[in-house]
Parts: sequence; C-alpha cells; structure tokens
Amino acid sequence: MGDSTKKWFSLNLNSKEKQSSDSCGCGKTTGGCNSHTEDSISDDAFMEAAVNASIGEERHKDGFEQVFDVKMDRRSAFKKLTASLMIGAGAVSTSCSMIAGEETKEKAQIDWEEQFKGNYKLMSNEEKKGTVDRLVRSYQMRTGKNISMSSKNAEEDVLFGYAFNISKCQGYMDCVNACVEENNQDRNSEMQYIRIHEMKDGKGFNFNEADDNYYHEVPAEGHFYMGTQCFHCDNPPCVEVCPVQATWREDDGLVVVDYDWCVGCRYCMAACPYDGRRFNWSKPEVPEAEVNKNQHYLGNRLRKKGVMEKCTFCVQRSREGKNPACVEACPTGARIFGNLLDPESTIRWVLENKKVFRLKEDLGTEPKFWYFMD
Ligand code: SF4
Ligand code: SF4
Repeated sequence: MGDSTKKWFSLNLNSKEKQSSDSCGCGKTTGGCNSHTEDSISDDAFMEAAVNASIGEERHKDGFEQVFDVKMDRRSAFKKLTASLMIGAGAVSTSCSMIAGEETKEKAQIDWEEQFKGNYKLMSNEEKKGTVDRLVRSYQMRTGKNISMSSKNAEEDVLFGYAFNISKCQGYMDCVNACVEENNQDRNSEMQYIRIHEMKDGKGFNFNEADDNYYHEVPAEGHFYMGTQCFHCDNPPCVEVCPVQATWREDDGLVVVDYDWCVGCRYCMAACPYDGRRFNWSKPEVPEAEVNKNQHYLGNRLRKKGVMEKCTFCVQRSREGKNPACVEACPTGARIFGNLLDPESTIRWVLENKKVFRLKEDLGTEPKFWYFMD
C-alpha cells in the first residue's frame, strides 16, 4: 500500500503482531495510559500483567476454585454436589427407573460442571472442548435433537474486516433476516444485530434523523441506506469496561462475548460508540425447527436471559472459511468480507482501490468496518 492510503487506513495489515502489541485500548502508542514506554514490553508480558491486574490469581484456578476459593478435587466435588442435588430433587433412582436415573444424574453433573466452569478466555483447548461437549449433550437430553458446536480458535495470519457499499444498498433488509436466522436471535423481542438506516439524500450521514424502522417499499425516493452492526474495533472500548472480562478481542480481530461469564451489567453497551451491542431482557426463544444447529461457543449458540449479544461476523461461519450470513444474503452485493492480511482478498482490493471511510475515526477505536461508494 502506498503512503497515501495510510490517511484512511491506520491498521498495519502486514504486521499483525505489531498491531496487537500496540493495542491497549487507550488509542495511543506512547504515553497516555502509562502502559507504553519507549522499550515496550512483550505481548505475553503485557497480557500477563493485564490479566493479573484484573483477576490476578483467579486465572490459575479452575472454575470450582474461582467460585469456592478453596482447593477442590473436581471428581469428588462433583460426586458430592451431584449427590446433594439428587437428594434435594428426590431423584434417587430405583431398579425400575435405572436408565432415567442415570440420565438425571448425568444431567445434574453436566449442570454443575457448567455452573462452575471458568472463563472461556482462560480455558485450555481441552477445557473448551469439554464445555462444548457438555452443551451439546445437554441440548440432546433436553430436546432429543443433535446440534454441532465448535470451539475452533482464531487461525494464524487472519484478521477479519468488512466493507459496506453505500451506493449498492437498497434497504431490502435480507441481511437482517439472514442474521436473525443464522444467529438464533430471539423471535419474540425481534432482536436484530444489524440496523439499516434510511437517510435523506443531501443531508449527509445524519443518524439522528435516520429512520431505522421503516415499513414501506424500498428504495424510497430521495433516500439512501447504510447498515451498522458491531464493527469489531481493534481498540474496543466495550472490552475495556467489562468488569469480569466476559468480552474480549480474539487474535483474528473478532470481538466476542462468553455468554456464561457475562453478568449483564451492560457497561459494554454504554461504552460502545456504534450501538453495536444488544442486551437480551428475556430468554431468547427460537422454535425448535428454526434453530440453526451449526453453532460456535462464541457465536450463535443458544443464550440465556440477561446477557449481552452482538454480531460476531458469524464466527461459526467465518472461521470455517465462509462469508457471514449477511454477506451471503445481500442481493445487491453491497457487503464485502474477508481476511485483511491476505493481499489477494476482495476486502483488500476494496480498501486499496476505493475511497473508504470509517465512522467516528477520531475516537481511535479502529473499527474494522469501512464504508465506500462506487
Ligand atoms: Fe465493541 Fe461497539 Fe466496537 Fe463492536 S462496535 S467492538 S461493540 S465498541
Ligand atoms: Fe461484560 Fe456482560 Fe457487563 Fe458487557 S454486560 S460489560 S459483557 S459483564
């Protein structure tokens, strides 16, 4: 990329390591938050210091120890807890209900293990697989149906980015519908991660006067359309404010939420300058026949009530080499997605050949979501 492109594109695409080491969230690379010095500390040392400052010794404990603050052998703990639960529930098995009893016992054990597991961000790959397996089994016992759930990590040399062609969007909202279906969003509250803003020609990008709930034929004369969702910022302010580290930026740039670690305080929602987060006030309901059964732990798995949700660039698809559902569904080709570190990718072509811009650049959030026009 030539120097001229750096005006609008401040991510160093060819040096992912440098990018992450500079990203503390203060938006500066020296001074400011006092975490930067001339001799910058290594990524690992910085991460260690940051995690220690937040949860310190807790990271070295497993879920049980984090909760009970006592050393506890997991197996004996499960036995004791399961036994207590069974007695409490009056679910002691008899010879004629042996199978049902075994299943109740297994369910109780799964529930306890899930209840006291640690933060996904700090889990080993084995622990990640463990929780995913439990959630799959739990769904099977509850509904009699199978789902597949991935715990696939970010791949090396991948940094996801998105571009939106304002000249092409006609406001059809196929992207919104595809997103709802793909990501198992609550059908009752009609939660939507994507918003399409209908704006008047000649008034600039005026979000205050935009109509986000239009119900008329599109495209409406004298209007244009602009989509927003989580922009997966490289310096995400939503991550900085989370008191329990339930949300974080992954190595491929996806900003994710561990729904089971989120305490629902909504600080992150208040901190996001782009209206990128959604809080579920009631238990998300999706008819069994409509549940998307291809899931990722950090993506479209079924959530509980009272946690934060958001666009994950369809992590369950993007980490499998597919486009997010919104990109696939757009009938006008207004949405472009890909690997910013791949010089051959379409997203790189767009960034290097179109006049692109990002919203609220001055905040230093470095959204990985660009807008452009033909
Ligand atoms: Fe966080 Fe909002 Fe940026 Fe998404 S758009 S990463 S929710 S600050
Ligand atoms: Fe963290 Fe959840 Fe609170 Fe957001 S709502 S700041 S993810 S605990």
